Amino acid sequence: MANCDLTQSQLDAHWMPFSSNREFKKDPRLLVSAEGHYYTDADGRKIFDGLSGLWNCGAGHARPEIVEAVSQQVKQLDYIPAFQYGHPKSFQLAERITDLMPDDLNRVFFTGSGSEAVETALKMARAYWRKKGQGTKTRFIGRAKGYHGVNFGGISVGGIGPNRVLYGQGIDAVHLPHTMLPDNKFVQGMPDDGAHLADYLEELLAVSDASNVAGVIVEPMAGSIGVIPPPKGYLKRLRELCDKHNLLLIFDEVITGFGRMGSYSGAEEFGVTPDLMVVAKQITNGVVPMGGVIAKQEIYDTFMDNGGKDYMIELPHGYTYSAHPLACAAGLASLDILEKDQLIPRVKQISPKFEEILHSLKGSRHVTDIRNYGLAGGITLESAPGEPALRPYQVAMKCWEKGFYVRYGGDTLQLGMPFTVETDEIDSVINAIGESLNEVD
Ligand code: PMP
Repeated sequence: MANCDLTQSQLDAHWMPFSSNREFKKDPRLLVSAEGHYYTDADGRKIFDGLSGLWNCGAGHARPEIVEAVSQQVKQLDYIPAFQYGHPKSFQLAERITDLMPDDLNRVFFTGSGSEAVETALKMARAYWRKKGQGTKTRFIGRAKGYHGVNFGGISVGGIGPNRVLYGQGIDAVHLPHTMLPDNKFVQGMPDDGAHLADYLEELLAVSDASNVAGVIVEPMAGSIGVIPPPKGYLKRLRELCDKHNLLLIFDEVITGFGRMGSYSGAEEFGVTPDLMVVAKQITNGVVPMGGVIAKQEIYDTFMDNGGKDYMIELPHGYTYSAHPLACAAGLASLDILEKDQLIPRVKQISPKFEEILHSLKGSRHVTDIRNYGLAGGITLESAPGEPALRPYQVAMKCWEKGFYVRYGGDTLQLGMPFTVETDEIDSVINAIGESLNEVD
């Protein structure tokens, strides 16, 4: 047991999310402080943060500017009713965000998390069509291996079986195939081959009919499943098909938004603008929970047309913690840091080094594929018989023993370097993974 004074009953009391509670509580991995690229655990060991928290602390931990902004905010204005009243920072943050996104995306709806933002986008899409007199357009098209949070809409459009199997009926959704073609193994960055997989949308529409479909939701680069960069031309093709068939295109940029790929968004990076963009995580550098949906003005305007009844609520939707003052203060300070420290160009500049070092694991024991884009990397491991998730878990635990936090999920290991990572830190974490791969059966 780590050196801390938690009692067994305290440990038992917390039902931990997305965790093996039994495994964790036998020998807890407790983190007690964080600064820069490192956590400190309850035994006082420094642990390198190889996933920037959960892809959300790219600017590093305990940034004084964010600490200061949040402390000031809590003293000045801790909370306001999120409905029918406002505070200045939410409007300032919304404008800052829209300035960073492609031109057409210029209205921000704030939520408290990525999952809430996904649900918001799905509800907006359905309501938009209803407002336009096309209320039959309710079905969604997601993609196999997609991750869109954990609420009912999100797991329905998501394409990860284990996240759905316990929960029964969700919302109406069908799925495009994922883009991990066998021939694309070990491709660095975007694969050349695979744009044609977008055409499968037409086959789905042949069955569903576009008159029943509200929209298509994808992550521009899938993250949580183990990093799947889009094939060249794939997103552009999806955009064309959505236009052709009158479907909204929703990008879930919860991981790709605000710097991870060396740009402010996947939309910018890949030159394809969706109708709705879902963001979260990096907006506040992970300090205060926040998510949001960034909508095209035409969608916003469709709701604003309410027959001259100004007292009417246009979209009956929102959260107690939408645009929370602390989150907005953290968001403004985080965006300042991205700009002031030039972190987006920094990610672009260091990414090729990350790519090179990450791919040096090719040929290592158990490794069957490696993928990367920007400062995100995924490593697929050959399954132990009948146990796809076992080896990644074992490797991640070996890394933890060596002082590195690396995420494991399904049959993959995942890396999301801090935006200010140095080459020697990339070397160390990749070495730790290489050694750990040799240490597990
Ligand atoms: N969408 C994507 C693409 C994500 O990666 C995540 C979180 N990993 C979510 C949605 C859900 O965000 P949250 O955990 O903040 O609800």
